[in-house]
Amino acid sequence: MSFTLAIVGRPNVGKSTLFNRLVGKKLALVDDQPGVTRDLREGEGRIADLRFTVIDSAGLEEATDDSLQGRMRRLTERAVEMADVCLFMIDARAGVLPADEVFADILRKKNANVILAANKGEGKAADASILEAYSLGLGEPIRMSAEHGEGMGELMDMLRPIADARAEQAAADAPEVDVDVGDDDEDAARVPTRAKPLQIAVVGRPNAGKSTLINKIIGEERLLTGPEAGITRDAISVQQDWGSVPMRIFDTAGMRKKAKVQEKLEKLSVSDGLRAVKFAEVVVVLLDVEIPFEQQDLRIADLAEREGRAVVVAANKWDVEGEKQSKLKELRQDFERLLPQLRGAPLVTVSAKTGKGLDRLQQAIMRAHEVWNRRVSTAHLNRWLTGMLEQHPPPAPGGKRIKMRYMTQVKTRPPAFVVMTSHPDQMPESYKRYLINGLRADFDMPGTPIRLFLRDQG
Ligand code: GDP
Ligand code: GDP
Repeated sequence: MSFTLAIVGRPNVGKSTLFNRLVGKKLALVDDQPGVTRDLREGEGRIADLRFTVIDSAGLEEATDDSLQGRMRRLTERAVEMADVCLFMIDARAGVLPADEVFADILRKKNANVILAANKGEGKAADASILEAYSLGLGEPIRMSAEHGEGMGELMDMLRPIADARAEQAAADAPEVDVDVGDDDEDAARVPTRAKPLQIAVVGRPNAGKSTLINKIIGEERLLTGPEAGITRDAISVQQDWGSVPMRIFDTAGMRKKAKVQEKLEKLSVSDGLRAVKFAEVVVVLLDVEIPFEQQDLRIADLAEREGRAVVVAANKWDVEGEKQSKLKELRQDFERLLPQLRGAPLVTVSAKTGKGLDRLQQAIMRAHEVWNRRVSTAHLNRWLTGMLEQHPPPAPGGKRIKMRYMTQVKTRPPAFVVMTSHPDQMPESYKRYLINGLRADFDMPGTPIRLFLRDQG
């Protein structure tokens, strides 16, 4: 049984663009003729293996016989009533406008499950509005670009628990379902055994050994008969238990290599890798130990961090390395220097060919995944913040000390925190880094990106 997602928000924020992307066809006709009344539009949406019904509430701008506000309200209310979850979209380039507040009110009054999305989020111009979006009081916004397909992985993460809850409900034939969108991770934590496969992507430059590694994990025969294509429209994946752990491994060029023309490989591996990253929970950056930390490796590792994925770095072909001890030291130093944004991420040595080190790789993946899902209590965080502020107070630009009052974790996967701060715009990056590094060390969160947002509280 699938669920229904309604896309709501004021005109021109990009609802139809997202609808088109989710439905995959030009179903939501872009109809620019003024005065043509469009109503709620329905389509079959999908992201990766998730299927759902999407309702597009665009077309609110054509106020004909009714006031814009009245019509907006009625259509939105109808969409909300039809949906299990509402994607409330704002325009990150325009910021939070009064009309957005009207929608936020409707959603609150209707007690809707809301996913807040700041669209047109590509580029730096959107940074400020994304923070501003917190003021709507609807939780952590997803930064999204419907036009460029950014933020789809995060949206998938938010929708997955709803789909799971729906599936469970169908199985149990229970009449009631109570899904808390913002708190999917707590729900997941309550499930004693892993209900869904851990999603990983193996990425790296051509010839790093990706297909050899994946072969080793899933078994030779399986790959020879080909990965299960067509599960998703955007990425190929294969599901397989690794030991006793169910995994879904997303494709990179390596898996499809045999079918592709050799000279196209370089380009393919990058874009396929990028796609796989979006669907993964944990990204394994596979290095060739003879040529580690190449430009391509660095780019994709950086992308994985920016996409908020848990990252494990694995140095492959360890069997051919003669000076293991000194090489390991060198790798660690290069890692620190070249990928400071991944500080604390595990580095393991493996041989995809012999299978040596794969158990350690698996452990590192599971641990990174666990940390990525970690939630720290607000009480604990605030005690910690007090200590951090005492130890090293924030700067005082122009003689006025920046105050940080209160901190809470707003999200997991990856962990994200908000600190109420006076003059957040004047807070130097170095102080944010001090807090992030402190969080990582004190709450034992290696191998996961940590997001820290400062919210203006006068
Ligand atoms: P709707 O009225 O909310 O359905 O908005 P539309 O989907 O019709 O989009 C309004 C305008 O915003 C169109 O010109 C889109 O091309 C543009 N747009 C939509 N998504 C994005 C995005 O992610 N980035 C940018 N820059 N423009 C976008
Ligand atoms: P991909 O392009 O990343 O998928 O790389 P492949 O899996 O096709 O491997 C490229 C080459 O490296 C092949 O000749 C493999 O046999 C070799 N290779 C892969 N893993 C290892 C390893 O752990 N040790 C050694 N010595 N060679 C390996």
